[in-house]
Amino acid sequence: MQPSSTLAAMQAADAMRAAGVDVVDFGAGEPDFDTPENIKRAAAAAMRAGQTKYTPTAGTRELQQAILDFYAREFTANYERPEVMATSGGKQAIFNAIVSLLNPGDEVLLPKPYWVTFPEIVVFARGTPVFIETEETGFLLNAQQVASAITPRTKLLILNSPCNPSGRVIPPAEFRKIMELLTERGIYVVSDECYLRFVYPPASVFSAASLPTELRKRLCIAGSFSKTYAMTGWRMGYALAPDGWTKAMLKVQSHSTSNPNSIAQWAATEALNGPQESVATMLAEYTSRRAWLLDALKEIPGLSCSQPEGAFYAFPNVRGCLRGKIRTSQEFAQALLEEEQTVITDGTGFGAAGYIRISYATSMQQLREGVKRIKRFTEKVI
Ligand code: PLP
Repeated sequence: MQPSSTLAAMQAADAMRAAGVDVVDFGAGEPDFDTPENIKRAAAAAMRAGQTKYTPTAGTRELQQAILDFYAREFTANYERPEVMATSGGKQAIFNAIVSLLNPGDEVLLPKPYWVTFPEIVVFARGTPVFIETEETGFLLNAQQVASAITPRTKLLILNSPCNPSGRVIPPAEFRKIMELLTERGIYVVSDECYLRFVYPPASVFSAASLPTELRKRLCIAGSFSKTYAMTGWRMGYALAPDGWTKAMLKVQSHSTSNPNSIAQWAATEALNGPQESVATMLAEYTSRRAWLLDALKEIPGLSCSQPEGAFYAFPNVRGCLRGKIRTSQEFAQALLEEEQTVITDGTGFGAAGYIRISYATSMQQLREGVKRIKRFTEKVI
Protein backbone atom coordinates (compact mmCIF):
# COMPACT_ATOMS: atom_id res chain seq x y z
CA MET A 1 0.00 0.00 0.00
CA GLN A 2 1.03 3.61 -0.56
CA PRO A 3 0.61 6.34 2.08
CA SER A 4 -2.32 8.71 1.48
CA SER A 5 -1.13 11.56 -0.78
CA THR A 6 -3.89 13.86 0.50
CA LEU A 7 -2.85 13.31 4.11
CA ALA A 8 0.77 13.88 3.05
CA ALA A 9 -0.22 17.30 1.64
CA MET A 10 -1.91 18.14 4.96
CA GLN A 11 1.20 17.14 6.88
CA ALA A 12 3.44 19.25 4.64
CA ALA A 13 1.25 22.29 5.32
CA ASP A 14 1.26 21.59 9.08
CA ALA A 15 5.05 21.34 9.15
CA MET A 16 5.43 24.68 7.34
CA ARG A 17 2.91 26.38 9.63
CA ALA A 18 4.73 25.03 12.68
CA ALA A 19 7.92 26.61 11.30
CA GLY A 20 6.11 29.98 11.21
CA VAL A 21 5.60 30.11 7.41
CA ASP A 22 2.51 31.96 6.12
CA VAL A 23 0.94 29.00 4.30
CA VAL A 24 -2.20 29.04 2.18
CA ASP A 25 -3.71 25.58 2.39
CA PHE A 26 -5.97 24.34 -0.39
CA GLY A 27 -5.04 20.74 0.37
CA ALA A 28 -7.47 19.88 3.13
CA GLY A 29 -10.47 17.76 2.27
CA GLU A 30 -12.35 18.88 5.34
CA PRO A 31 -14.82 21.64 6.14
CA ASP A 32 -13.37 24.76 7.76
CA PHE A 33 -16.59 25.02 9.83
CA ASP A 34 -16.90 23.85 13.41
CA THR A 35 -19.30 21.04 14.36
CA PRO A 36 -22.76 22.57 15.03
CA GLU A 37 -23.55 23.30 18.71
CA ASN A 38 -26.59 21.00 18.96
CA ILE A 39 -24.35 18.07 17.97
CA LYS A 40 -21.69 18.95 20.53
CA ARG A 41 -24.37 19.30 23.22
CA ALA A 42 -25.72 15.85 22.39
CA ALA A 43 -22.22 14.40 22.83
CA ALA A 44 -21.76 16.16 26.18
CA ALA A 45 -25.16 14.92 27.35
CA ALA A 46 -24.33 11.37 26.26
CA MET A 47 -21.12 11.41 28.28
CA ARG A 48 -22.92 12.69 31.37
CA ALA A 49 -25.61 10.04 30.94
CA GLY A 50 -22.92 7.35 31.01
CA GLN A 51 -23.08 6.39 27.33
CA THR A 52 -19.44 5.47 27.59
CA LYS A 53 -19.53 1.71 27.07
CA TYR A 54 -19.22 -0.65 24.11
CA THR A 55 -22.26 -0.53 21.84
CA PRO A 56 -23.53 -3.20 19.45
CA THR A 57 -21.09 -3.63 16.52
CA ALA A 58 -23.67 -2.19 14.11
CA GLY A 59 -24.20 0.87 16.33
CA THR A 60 -26.91 1.86 18.78
CA ARG A 61 -30.53 1.20 17.86
CA GLU A 62 -31.14 4.95 18.01
CA LEU A 63 -28.43 5.73 15.45
CA GLN A 64 -29.47 2.88 13.16
CA GLN A 65 -33.03 4.19 13.30
CA ALA A 66 -31.91 7.78 12.62
CA ILE A 67 -30.06 6.61 9.48
CA LEU A 68 -33.07 4.56 8.30
CA ASP A 69 -35.42 7.49 8.98
CA PHE A 70 -33.17 9.90 7.09
CA TYR A 71 -33.12 7.67 3.98
CA ALA A 72 -36.86 7.00 4.20
CA ARG A 73 -37.61 10.75 4.57
CA GLU A 74 -35.22 12.08 1.93
CA PHE A 75 -35.15 9.28 -0.64
CA THR A 76 -38.25 7.17 0.14
CA ALA A 77 -35.88 4.24 0.64
CA ASN A 78 -37.17 1.13 2.42
CA TYR A 79 -34.04 -0.17 4.14
CA GLU A 80 -34.51 -2.28 7.28
CA ARG A 81 -32.45 -2.54 10.45
CA PRO A 82 -30.34 -5.60 9.39
CA GLU A 83 -29.25 -3.57 6.36
CA VAL A 84 -27.68 -0.67 8.24
CA MET A 85 -24.54 -0.36 10.31
CA ALA A 86 -22.67 2.55 11.85
CA THR A 87 -18.94 2.75 11.16
CA SER A 88 -15.91 4.74 12.27
CA GLY A 89 -16.06 7.19 9.37
CA GLY A 90 -17.18 6.56 5.81
CA LYS A 91 -13.71 5.16 5.23
CA GLN A 92 -14.42 2.17 7.48
CA ALA A 93 -17.70 1.51 5.65
CA ILE A 94 -15.80 1.35 2.35
CA PHE A 95 -13.06 -0.77 3.90
CA ASN A 96 -15.57 -3.23 5.40
CA ALA A 97 -17.46 -3.49 2.11
CA ILE A 98 -14.38 -4.21 -0.01
CA VAL A 99 -12.57 -6.51 2.41
CA SER A 100 -15.68 -8.60 3.08
CA LEU A 101 -16.44 -9.01 -0.63
CA LEU A 102 -13.24 -9.63 -2.56
CA ASN A 103 -11.40 -12.85 -3.26
CA PRO A 104 -7.81 -12.73 -4.52
CA GLY A 105 -7.69 -11.73 -8.19
CA ASP A 106 -11.18 -10.21 -8.31
CA GLU A 107 -11.22 -7.14 -10.52
CA VAL A 108 -12.58 -3.86 -9.22
CA LEU A 109 -13.57 -1.10 -11.63
CA LEU A 110 -12.37 2.32 -10.56
CA PRO A 111 -13.38 5.29 -12.71
CA LYS A 112 -10.67 7.93 -12.96
CA PRO A 113 -10.14 10.22 -11.19
CA TYR A 114 -10.71 8.17 -8.05
CA TRP A 115 -10.40 8.95 -4.37
CA VAL A 116 -6.85 7.92 -3.37
CA THR A 117 -8.02 5.38 -0.82
CA PHE A 118 -10.06 3.16 -3.19
CA PRO A 119 -7.21 1.37 -5.04
CA GLU A 120 -5.24 0.98 -1.81
CA ILE A 121 -8.07 -0.89 -0.08
CA VAL A 122 -8.59 -3.04 -3.19
CA VAL A 123 -4.91 -3.97 -3.19
CA PHE A 124 -5.03 -4.62 0.56
CA ALA A 125 -7.88 -7.09 -0.09
CA ARG A 126 -5.78 -8.80 -2.83
CA GLY A 127 -8.07 -7.51 -5.55
CA THR A 128 -6.96 -5.99 -8.85
CA PRO A 129 -7.88 -2.37 -9.60
CA VAL A 130 -9.02 -1.83 -13.21
CA PHE A 131 -9.16 1.84 -14.07
CA ILE A 132 -11.74 3.44 -16.35
CA GLU A 133 -10.56 6.49 -18.31
CA THR A 134 -13.09 9.32 -18.28
CA GLU A 135 -11.06 12.37 -19.31
CA GLU A 136 -12.65 12.51 -22.74
CA THR A 137 -16.11 12.87 -21.17
CA GLY A 138 -14.89 15.59 -18.80
CA PHE A 139 -14.55 13.03 -15.98
CA LEU A 140 -18.23 12.18 -16.16
CA LEU A 141 -18.70 8.41 -16.05
CA ASN A 142 -21.26 6.78 -18.33
CA ALA A 143 -22.69 3.26 -18.70
CA GLN A 144 -20.87 2.66 -21.97
CA GLN A 145 -17.48 3.27 -20.37
CA VAL A 146 -18.40 0.84 -17.59
CA ALA A 147 -19.62 -1.79 -20.09
CA SER A 148 -16.37 -1.77 -22.03
CA ALA A 149 -14.29 -2.28 -18.88
CA ILE A 150 -16.17 -5.38 -17.65
CA THR A 151 -14.39 -8.75 -17.87
CA PRO A 152 -15.38 -12.19 -16.51
CA ARG A 153 -13.33 -11.37 -13.39
CA THR A 154 -15.12 -8.10 -12.59
CA LYS A 155 -16.60 -8.29 -9.11
CA LEU A 156 -17.17 -4.69 -8.05
CA LEU A 157 -17.47 -1.09 -9.26
CA ILE A 158 -16.80 1.80 -6.93
CA LEU A 159 -18.82 4.94 -7.63
CA ASN A 160 -18.26 8.28 -5.96
CA SER A 161 -20.75 10.97 -6.92
CA PRO A 162 -20.25 13.83 -6.10
CA CYS A 163 -16.66 12.91 -6.85
CA ASN A 164 -13.58 13.72 -4.87
CA PRO A 165 -11.49 15.12 -6.61
CA SER A 166 -13.37 16.18 -9.78
CA GLY A 167 -16.60 17.40 -8.14
CA ARG A 168 -18.54 15.80 -11.00
CA VAL A 169 -22.03 14.45 -10.28
CA ILE A 170 -23.36 11.54 -12.35
CA PRO A 171 -26.83 12.55 -13.62
CA PRO A 172 -29.55 10.31 -12.06
CA ALA A 173 -30.61 8.81 -15.42
CA GLU A 174 -27.03 7.74 -16.20
CA PHE A 175 -26.57 6.43 -12.66
CA ARG A 176 -29.62 4.26 -13.15
CA LYS A 177 -28.31 2.97 -16.50
CA ILE A 178 -25.05 2.00 -14.81
CA MET A 179 -26.94 0.18 -12.05
CA GLU A 180 -29.14 -1.63 -14.60
CA LEU A 181 -26.07 -2.81 -16.47
CA LEU A 182 -24.34 -4.06 -13.33
CA THR A 183 -27.46 -5.73 -11.98
CA GLU A 184 -27.81 -7.60 -15.26
CA ARG A 185 -24.14 -8.68 -15.08
CA GLY A 186 -24.24 -9.64 -11.38
CA ILE A 187 -21.58 -7.09 -10.41
CA TYR A 188 -21.46 -5.45 -6.98
CA VAL A 189 -21.35 -1.70 -6.40
CA VAL A 190 -20.05 0.47 -3.59
CA SER A 191 -21.55 3.94 -3.88
CA ASP A 192 -19.54 6.39 -1.81
CA GLU A 193 -22.02 9.15 -0.99
CA CYS A 194 -19.82 11.06 1.38
CA TYR A 195 -20.52 14.41 -0.39
CA LEU A 196 -24.22 13.60 -0.89
CA ARG A 197 -25.59 16.89 0.41
CA PHE A 198 -23.10 19.25 -1.27
CA VAL A 199 -24.51 19.63 -4.77
CA TYR A 200 -24.94 22.89 -6.69
CA PRO A 201 -27.90 23.71 -8.97
CA PRO A 202 -28.80 22.88 -11.66
CA ALA A 203 -27.50 19.49 -10.44
CA SER A 204 -29.57 18.00 -7.63
CA VAL A 205 -28.98 15.72 -4.67
CA PHE A 206 -29.27 12.06 -5.66
CA SER A 207 -28.74 8.90 -3.64
CA ALA A 208 -28.58 5.39 -5.04
CA ALA A 209 -30.95 4.58 -2.16
CA SER A 210 -33.76 6.09 -4.23
CA LEU A 211 -33.38 3.40 -6.93
CA PRO A 212 -35.86 0.50 -7.02
CA THR A 213 -35.05 -2.44 -4.71
CA GLU A 214 -34.17 -4.78 -7.60
CA LEU A 215 -31.32 -2.44 -8.61
CA ARG A 216 -29.97 -2.40 -5.04
CA LYS A 217 -29.46 -6.14 -4.52
CA ARG A 218 -25.67 -5.85 -4.83
CA LEU A 219 -25.31 -2.25 -3.70
CA CYS A 220 -23.53 -0.93 -0.63
CA ILE A 221 -23.98 2.77 0.13
CA ALA A 222 -21.15 4.25 2.18
CA GLY A 223 -22.09 7.45 3.97
CA SER A 224 -20.31 9.89 6.23
CA PHE A 225 -21.04 12.53 8.84
CA SER A 226 -17.62 14.11 8.29
CA LYS A 227 -18.38 16.59 5.53
CA THR A 228 -22.13 17.13 5.91
CA TYR A 229 -21.97 18.07 9.58
CA ALA A 230 -18.35 19.23 9.79
CA MET A 231 -17.52 16.21 11.96
CA THR A 232 -14.26 14.92 10.46
CA GLY A 233 -12.62 14.35 13.85
CA TRP A 234 -15.56 12.43 15.31
CA ARG A 235 -15.03 9.54 12.87
CA MET A 236 -18.63 8.61 12.12
CA GLY A 237 -20.04 7.00 9.01
CA TYR A 238 -22.39 4.21 8.00
CA ALA A 239 -23.12 1.53 5.45
CA LEU A 240 -26.44 0.48 3.92
CA ALA A 241 -26.37 -2.85 2.12
CA PRO A 242 -28.34 -6.10 1.69
CA ASP A 243 -28.31 -8.02 4.98
CA GLY A 244 -25.94 -10.76 3.75
CA TRP A 245 -23.30 -8.20 2.87
CA THR A 246 -23.93 -6.25 6.09
CA LYS A 247 -23.44 -9.46 8.11
CA ALA A 248 -20.06 -10.02 6.44
CA MET A 249 -19.10 -6.38 7.08
CA LEU A 250 -20.07 -6.75 10.73
CA LYS A 251 -17.65 -9.66 11.06
CA VAL A 252 -14.81 -7.49 9.75
CA GLN A 253 -15.80 -4.60 12.02
CA SER A 254 -16.33 -6.75 15.11
CA HIS A 255 -12.73 -7.97 14.85
CA SER A 256 -11.23 -4.56 14.10
CA THR A 257 -12.82 -1.58 15.89
CA SER A 258 -15.69 -3.52 17.58
CA ASN A 259 -18.02 -0.51 17.29
CA PRO A 260 -17.75 3.20 16.51
CA ASN A 261 -17.12 5.56 19.42
CA SER A 262 -20.22 5.50 21.66
CA ILE A 263 -20.27 9.26 22.33
CA ALA A 264 -19.82 10.11 18.66
CA GLN A 265 -22.78 7.83 17.87
CA TRP A 266 -25.04 10.02 20.03
CA ALA A 267 -23.65 13.11 18.32
CA ALA A 268 -24.38 11.53 14.92
CA THR A 269 -27.92 10.64 16.00
CA GLU A 270 -28.55 14.30 16.85
CA ALA A 271 -26.94 15.35 13.56
CA LEU A 272 -29.57 13.40 11.60
CA ASN A 273 -32.57 13.98 13.86
CA GLY A 274 -31.88 17.59 14.85
CA PRO A 275 -32.19 20.89 12.92
CA GLN A 276 -30.53 20.93 9.49
CA GLU A 277 -29.95 24.70 9.20
CA SER A 278 -26.21 24.29 9.65
CA VAL A 279 -26.04 22.13 6.51
CA ALA A 280 -27.90 24.80 4.52
CA THR A 281 -25.58 27.51 5.89
CA MET A 282 -22.47 25.56 4.87
CA LEU A 283 -23.91 24.80 1.45
CA ALA A 284 -24.68 28.51 0.89
CA GLU A 285 -21.13 29.43 1.83
CA TYR A 286 -19.62 26.76 -0.45
CA THR A 287 -21.90 27.94 -3.24
CA SER A 288 -20.57 31.50 -3.13
CA ARG A 289 -16.94 30.41 -2.73
CA ARG A 290 -17.30 28.05 -5.67
CA ALA A 291 -18.74 30.79 -7.90
CA TRP A 292 -15.92 33.15 -6.94
CA LEU A 293 -13.20 30.52 -7.39
CA LEU A 294 -14.38 29.29 -10.79
CA ASP A 295 -14.42 32.87 -12.08
CA ALA A 296 -11.03 33.62 -10.59
CA LEU A 297 -9.46 30.48 -12.10
CA LYS A 298 -10.52 31.63 -15.58
CA GLU A 299 -8.12 34.56 -15.16
CA ILE A 300 -5.12 32.31 -14.55
CA PRO A 301 -3.04 31.63 -17.67
CA GLY A 302 -2.46 27.97 -18.53
CA LEU A 303 -5.24 26.64 -16.31
CA SER A 304 -8.57 25.24 -17.52
CA CYS A 305 -11.28 24.02 -15.22
CA SER A 306 -14.60 22.31 -15.88
CA GLN A 307 -17.62 23.08 -13.67
CA PRO A 308 -17.71 20.83 -10.61
CA GLU A 309 -21.36 20.18 -9.66
CA GLY A 310 -20.69 18.93 -6.15
CA ALA A 311 -18.31 18.47 -3.19
CA PHE A 312 -15.94 21.37 -2.41
CA TYR A 313 -13.13 20.98 -4.91
CA ALA A 314 -12.08 22.54 -8.20
CA PHE A 315 -9.98 20.25 -10.39
CA PRO A 316 -8.20 22.32 -13.02
CA ASN A 317 -6.01 21.00 -15.80
CA VAL A 318 -2.54 22.55 -15.49
CA ARG A 319 -0.92 21.04 -18.58
CA GLY A 320 -0.83 24.52 -20.13
CA CYS A 321 1.60 25.52 -17.35
CA LEU A 322 4.02 22.65 -17.75
CA ARG A 323 7.11 24.42 -19.09
CA GLY A 324 10.84 24.43 -18.42
CA LYS A 325 11.75 22.74 -15.18
CA ILE A 326 8.10 22.09 -14.36
CA ARG A 327 7.20 19.02 -16.38
CA THR A 328 4.45 17.38 -14.35
CA SER A 329 1.56 18.38 -12.09
CA GLN A 330 3.58 16.88 -9.25
CA GLU A 331 6.44 19.29 -9.95
CA PHE A 332 3.88 22.08 -10.30
CA ALA A 333 2.53 21.30 -6.80
CA GLN A 334 6.01 21.08 -5.32
CA ALA A 335 7.21 24.35 -6.88
CA LEU A 336 4.02 26.15 -5.84
CA LEU A 337 4.63 25.04 -2.28
CA GLU A 338 8.28 26.08 -2.30
CA GLU A 339 7.94 29.36 -4.17
CA GLU A 340 4.53 30.59 -3.04
CA GLN A 341 3.92 28.58 0.16
CA THR A 342 0.61 27.39 -1.25
CA VAL A 343 -0.61 23.83 -0.81
CA ILE A 344 -2.70 22.16 -3.49
CA THR A 345 -3.02 18.42 -4.18
CA ASP A 346 -1.43 16.94 -7.29
CA GLY A 347 -3.89 14.96 -9.41
CA THR A 348 -1.47 12.05 -9.95
CA GLY A 349 -2.55 10.34 -6.71
CA PHE A 350 -6.15 10.44 -8.00
CA GLY A 351 -5.13 8.85 -11.31
CA ALA A 352 -5.22 12.18 -13.15
CA ALA A 353 -1.70 13.45 -13.79
CA GLY A 354 -1.80 16.93 -15.31
CA TYR A 355 -4.51 18.12 -12.91
CA ILE A 356 -4.48 19.69 -9.46
CA ARG A 357 -7.15 19.69 -6.77
CA ILE A 358 -8.02 22.95 -5.03
CA SER A 359 -10.19 22.60 -1.94
CA TYR A 360 -12.46 25.59 -1.28
CA ALA A 361 -13.36 24.39 2.19
CA THR A 362 -11.38 27.38 3.39
CA SER A 363 -12.15 31.05 4.08
CA MET A 364 -12.74 33.61 1.30
CA GLN A 365 -9.72 35.52 2.57
CA GLN A 366 -7.50 32.42 2.13
CA LEU A 367 -9.07 31.74 -1.26
CA ARG A 368 -8.28 35.28 -2.46
CA GLU A 369 -4.71 35.13 -1.20
CA GLY A 370 -4.09 31.62 -2.57
CA VAL A 371 -5.48 32.37 -6.01
CA LYS A 372 -3.32 35.52 -6.14
CA ARG A 373 -0.27 33.35 -5.38
CA ILE A 374 -1.19 30.68 -7.97
CA LYS A 375 -1.64 33.40 -10.60
CA ARG A 376 1.71 35.00 -9.75
CA PHE A 377 3.32 31.56 -9.94
CA THR A 378 1.82 30.54 -13.29
CA GLU A 379 2.68 33.91 -14.84
CA LYS A 380 6.28 33.32 -13.83
CA VAL A 381 6.28 29.78 -15.24
CA ILE A 382 4.66 30.60 -18.57
N1 PLP B 1 -14.97 9.14 0.55
C1 PLP B 1 -14.44 10.23 -0.02
C2 PLP B 1 -14.59 10.41 -1.47
C3 PLP B 1 -13.75 11.16 0.77
O1 PLP B 1 -13.23 12.25 0.20
C4 PLP B 1 -13.60 10.93 2.16
C5 PLP B 1 -12.83 11.84 2.99
O2 PLP B 1 -12.07 12.65 2.54
C6 PLP B 1 -14.20 9.78 2.68
C7 PLP B 1 -14.87 8.90 1.86
C8 PLP B 1 -14.08 9.36 4.11
O3 PLP B 1 -14.54 10.24 5.02
P1 PLP B 1 -14.64 9.83 6.54
O4 PLP B 1 -13.92 8.58 6.78
O5 PLP B 1 -14.07 10.99 7.28
O6 PLP B 1 -16.11 9.67 6.80
